[in-house]
Amino acid sequence: MVLLRFAPSPTGALHLGGLRTALYNHLFAKKHGGKWILRIEDTDATRYIPTAVDGIRNALAWAGLPYDFGPGMDGPHGPYFQSERLDLYHSYTRRLLESGHAYRCFCSPDKLTATREKLARMGSNATYDKSCLHLTEEEVARRVRAGEKSIVRLNDDNLPDRPSPTDIVFGILRDAHASLPTDPVLLKSDLFPTYHLASVVDDHEMDITHVLRGEEWLPSLPLHLDLYSCLGLKPPQFAHLPILLNPNGTKMSKRNGDVSVLDFMRRGWEPEAMLNWLALAGWGVHHENGHPSPPGTPSSPPPDSTALMTLPELIEQFDLSSLTHRRNVLDPAKLAYLNKHHLMRSWQTEQGITFQAKRVHDVVKAAFPHSPYTSVEYIMRVISVLQGRITNLHDVPTLAPFFFVELDYTLPEAQTMKRGLSADDYGKSRTLSVSSSPSTQSDVGVLLHDACEKTGLKQKVFMTALRHALSGMKAGPSLPEIIDVLGVERTAERLKSALS
Ligand code: GLU
Repeated sequence: MVLLRFAPSPTGALHLGGLRTALYNHLFAKKHGGKWILRIEDTDATRYIPTAVDGIRNALAWAGLPYDFGPGMDGPHGPYFQSERLDLYHSYTRRLLESGHAYRCFCSPDKLTATREKLARMGSNATYDKSCLHLTEEEVARRVRAGEKSIVRLNDDNLPDRPSPTDIVFGILRDAHASLPTDPVLLKSDLFPTYHLASVVDDHEMDITHVLRGEEWLPSLPLHLDLYSCLGLKPPQFAHLPILLNPNGTKMSKRNGDVSVLDFMRRGWEPEAMLNWLALAGWGVHHENGHPSPPGTPSSPPPDSTALMTLPELIEQFDLSSLTHRRNVLDPAKLAYLNKHHLMRSWQTEQGITFQAKRVHDVVKAAFPHSPYTSVEYIMRVISVLQGRITNLHDVPTLAPFFFVELDYTLPEAQTMKRGLSADDYGKSRTLSVSSSPSTQSDVGVLLHDACEKTGLKQKVFMTALRHALSGMKAGPSLPEIIDVLGVERTAERLKSALS
C-alpha cells in the first residue's frame, strides 16, 4: 500500500508551501488508495513554538485534508512526534557507530568554527578536518565515560556506492554530492537527532513508500540516500515540489505572515478554492525530454491553472508525471477567480447556500453590528441577487451595504450620481412610490416599466434616479432585484428620503 507522510516542523504557522505539500501528499495517497501520516518534526528545541502543532492541525482541518494517522490518534506507525522517538534514533546511531559509518566528535562549537574558517582560508571545500575520526576507541570510551559532550557524524570516507540520486520531479541529480558538508552531523550534543537522521529513520520505520516534500530539501537527498545505504535499507521514492513564487518572482517565505493558511481563512477564502489554486499552480506541464516519467502517463491532458476542480476531481486527475520542476507562481488573481466560481458552485444547492448564508451573517454582523437586516433568510436573498459579483464572502458588506443599513446620500458616490440628475427627474421618478405594491420580482419589472412610461423620462435617467435612491451606488444588482430584496416599504422610504 502507498503510505506517505507530511512532516512539518512546529516552528510557526502552516504556510502556503506547507499546505501545498500536505495537499500533494493527500492527492497522491488517495489517488492510489493509500494513506498519509502527519508527523511532527520537533527535534529543534530552539525553534519550537508550543502553539504551532494546534495551528497546523487546525489549518489542515479547515482545508479539508484529514490525515489518516497522526497526533491525537492511537494508530499504527506512532508515536507521531519525533521528540517521542529518541530511543529509535539512538539505536540507529549505535548501529552506524558499530559499523564504522559514523564516529563521535568532541570538538567544541568554537573549535569547529575556527576549523571551518581555517579550511576556507586554505581554499578547501571541506567544512571539517575530521580530527576526531582518528581518536582511538579507548580515548573515545574514556571521554564518553567522563561525561564529555559529543556529537555523532557520518564518516564520508566510508560510504558505499553513491549513484546519482533520482527524483520523480527533478530527474537525475548529477554532482549532487559535491555540495554536502564534510561528515554531516547525525546526532547533536543534546542527544536529539538532526533532521537528516530522524527523517531517514522515521521514513523507514513508518514504512513510507513515497516522500513528497519541498524543493528546499532536494540538496539533502544525497545525504539521505547515503544513510539508507549505510544502514542497508531500501529508500522510498522521492518527489520534491518546486518553490512557490509571488507573481513578481520573489520567493514566498514562512517568515512573511501573509502566507499563513489561517490568515487566508480569516480573510474569507474558500478552502476548496485554495486547494484548487495550489494544486494547479504546479501541474499542467509534462516533463520535457530527459526527465523520467513515472509509470502511467496521464490519460487526458493536464488541466490549465484556472480549471475549477473539487478535491475529488483533483485526486482523480493527480499525476506526479505532470508536475513541473519549474518554480510555481501563485497568482492571487487566480485565487480570486477560483474562489468566485467555487462560491457560485456551492450556491447551487439549498444546503450550500444555507451554509454560506450563515458565514455571511457573521461577516455582516461584524461590519454592521446594529443592522436589523441580518437574518439568515434575508441574507440568502441578498446572496441570490449578488451571485456572480461576490469574489470573496467578506466582500458582501462593501459590495452591497445598502441591503443592511440605511443610506448615507452624502457619500461621494451618491453625490456624484445625484449631480447628474435634476430635481424634476427626482420628482417624476417618485411615481413608483405612490403606485407600488409589487409582490414578485417580475411585478416590479412591469411596474418600473410602466412608471418610466408615465414619467416621460428617458429610461436611463429614470433608472439612475432610482438606483441613486435605493442603493446610492452606480453598480450592483438590477433594480427589480434590489426592490425585491428591500421590500415595498423600505423601497418607498428610500424614494422619499432621496428627495428630501
Ligand atoms: N520538517 C521539514 C519541514 O518542516 C520537512 C522535511 C520533510 O518533509 O522531509 O520543512
